[in-house]
Amino acid sequence: MNKPLVLVVEDDYAVRNLISTTLETHEYRFHTAPNGEAAILEAVSHNPDIILMDLGLPDIDGVDIIRKIRTWSITPIIVISARSEDEDKIEALDAGADDYLTKPFSIEELLARLRVTLRRLNYVQSSEKTENNIFTNGELKIDYVAGCAYLGDDELHLTPIEYKLICLLSKNVGKVLTHTFITREIWGSAWDSDVASLRVFMATLRKKIEKNTSSPQYIQTHIGVGYRMLKI
Ligand code: CA
Repeated sequence: MNKPLVLVVEDDYAVRNLISTTLETHEYRFHTAPNGEAAILEAVSHNPDIILMDLGLPDIDGVDIIRKIRTWSITPIIVISARSEDEDKIEALDAGADDYLTKPFSIEELLARLRVTLRRLNYVQSSEKTENNIFTNGELKIDYVAGCAYLGDDELHLTPIEYKLICLLSKNVGKVLTHTFITREIWGSAWDSDVASLRVFMATLRKKIEKNTSSPQYIQTHIGVGYRMLKI
């Protein structure tokens, strides 16, 4: 990939400037948009590789912009929000955002999120060229056609729900999935009791795939938000 092009949507000049300077010194190209209307225009005309999206904009709500962009584009969107409430992040993720950063954030955090997103992007682009039937990530391998999952050479003995879960996470590798999204996909509903069950299934799944469940390598927990499989 050439230098990735990042679209920075942010109305606060100081924050926009900080992000732009960081991108410039770390081998990224960038465009900026100070409001929602400019963001949509930039997204259409320059087709960025990644979008950094502030949720609180003067004209259009960031979540509505995400919904709009998602009607034609799958470009990864990282939400940047001063609002630390989980509801906003969750709404943005359910609208199609991939990840989030909460203000104030450090330069290191920003760069780490961009790296995670780029890994996902590279994976998606390379898997488009090859067969999609087999998923590999580190030691983990899933054969979607045979319906089997492996860790190294060993077949994993997963329950049907655990298998559904690992498939869902792997098909969205790199993306934060909300509790609501996961429970809807797995059980077709999103009750609080499903979220509690999800926690239990996730714990048993982790015991089977993680070397150390207290510092998981594959599945990251986002407290109050959801889970993500990381691309190793
Ligand atoms: Ca703002």
